[in-house]
Amino acid sequence: MNKHLQLFIERYTELEREVQRLVTGLCNSLCAQCTQICCRADICEEAIESPFLRLINKRTQLDSDAYGFLTTTGCGIEIGRPTVCYEYFCYDHLYYQPDEVHEKVMRVLGALPAHATRNAIGDAPLSEILQEEKLAEVDFQTLEKQLGESFQALEAIKSFYNEGALPESSDRALDRITFSE
Ligand code: SF4
Ligand code: SF4
Repeated sequence: MNKHLQLFIERYTELEREVQRLVTGLCNSLCAQCTQICCRADICEEAIESPFLRLINKRTQLDSDAYGFLTTTGCGIEIGRPTVCYEYFCYDHLYYQPDEVHEKVMRVLGALPAHATRNAIGDAPLSEILQEEKLAEVDFQTLEKQLGESFQALEAIKSFYNEGALPESSDRALDRITFSE
């Protein structure tokens, strides 16, 4: 494997694990009671259509045509999920945030994997590059910069959840994170 890609995947996996841990902690209780689960097999398919995500999740087919990777206890993909799976929060999650700062921090947290993987070739995200050989043409300089920005924002967010307040001058780190349309 291309050395840049291998290094990027190692660091991206670290980011995804941390984002997943925090998002699960925020969402688990509400999602566990949900009767209209937003997971869909066509979203799960992104995890096997994307060569980048496949290198992480090692999956080649859905577990079920109807439910994709969804299990009775949540997502069956340990790591290497589509970025939208972290970025999407339903109205209920936003509604139950205690204030606007918590809502903003949660939304930025969910956007970190997508931000890190934007603009891989032109404005195409890394997970939307569907030909494996094209991964060698990726702009790793831009990806590394975005990944670094995601880690900086993650540090501020971890501090927010641990200390109950955002560190001074963390606004810039949070505001740099872009959201998918
Ligand atoms: S994010 Fe919202 S809609 Fe999706 S499973 Fe959780 S509670 Fe249900
Ligand atoms: S979280 Fe898992 S089960 Fe849900 S849509 Fe994403 S990949 Fe599929």
